[in-house]
Amino acid sequence: MVDLLTTQLDYRYYHQNWTTDKTKTTKDFNDMDNICIRAYAKVNLTLDVVGKRADDYHDLEMIMQSVDLWDQIILREIHSGIELDTNIEDLPRDEGNIAWRAAQLIKKEFDIATGVHIFIQKNIPLEGGMAGGSADCAGVLAGLNQLWNLGMDEKELRALGKSLGADVPFCLMGGTALAQGIGDILTPIESKEDMWLLVVKPQFGVSTRDVYNRLNLKNIGKRPDNKRMVEYLESGRIEDLARGLVNVLEEITIPMHPEISQLKAELIELGSLGSLMSGSGPSVYGIYKDHAAANRAAKALSKKYKQVYLIKTREKGIDIEFGY
Ligand code: ATP
Repeated sequence: MVDLLTTQLDYRYYHQNWTTDKTKTTKDFNDMDNICIRAYAKVNLTLDVVGKRADDYHDLEMIMQSVDLWDQIILREIHSGIELDTNIEDLPRDEGNIAWRAAQLIKKEFDIATGVHIFIQKNIPLEGGMAGGSADCAGVLAGLNQLWNLGMDEKELRALGKSLGADVPFCLMGGTALAQGIGDILTPIESKEDMWLLVVKPQFGVSTRDVYNRLNLKNIGKRPDNKRMVEYLESGRIEDLARGLVNVLEEITIPMHPEISQLKAELIELGSLGSLMSGSGPSVYGIYKDHAAANRAAKALSKKYKQVYLIKTREKGIDIEFGY
């Protein structure tokens, strides 16, 4: 049995910069009826904005990749209501938390009378462009589906997830995928090779909404060639893939935070095959062919940056286990 409670792998450099409540850990929960979930983050290998919709959402075309950096969620059935707790002090514990809204939606859809206690141990950086909130939401949907024996298949879960957030369907599916529409129309990609990624989250956060509000479609310069990128992934041509990384939102976020450009250059200087900002930023990653090269770069960068993660790409978005 995989120990889903292992919070840190030895190859990860990871320093939390937020205020954590050390009295709260997943170790407080130890019951075979609990459900333990790992909800994994994503990075964008590409991101293109191809249109603006009447409902203010944008039409996107992007390649998403699950990565081995996760939030840990424990679900425990309670008598009634929804209780949420987390190790991060300034994260909402009510309907302001997307994971809380996931439980609310399921309770309403299935007319569930009992309640749930949700504990979230955050590891995924906040406001980083790595879909941390969406991952938690996906984790709670998938976990409650099991806890309450609802029998939803992935397609049904994704349909529910879409109403809560555009990245939730991908977080439920996981792996590597071409995402279209608002991000919810997903085509899985058979990625041939695993990759090592060195992710650096600068100390500031970026509001996704703010970045999209500033975007003018007419001004977009270089766009990714998603068709080619899919071919590179399917044939394991990592060098070509790394050269083809493009995220059109860099044109908005980098002028607001020029440090991102410097960070991208630093990753290249430290041997990465290519570097890119993920989502609306500010997290930036470099692709490395092997662990040794990535590890050298991680050592150098962790002297300067607090949140540095050496992680691998992965094939699933959620892991679920009973117990704890
Ligand atoms: P994306 O990549 O999807 O744009 P992000 O990584 O930039 O997301 P998140 O950390 O997922 O951003 O969400 C940021 C905002 O959402 C914060 O303002 C936070 O208060 C709110 N939020 C609500 N629920 C959560 C949650 N479970 N985890 C993280 N943030 C949450």
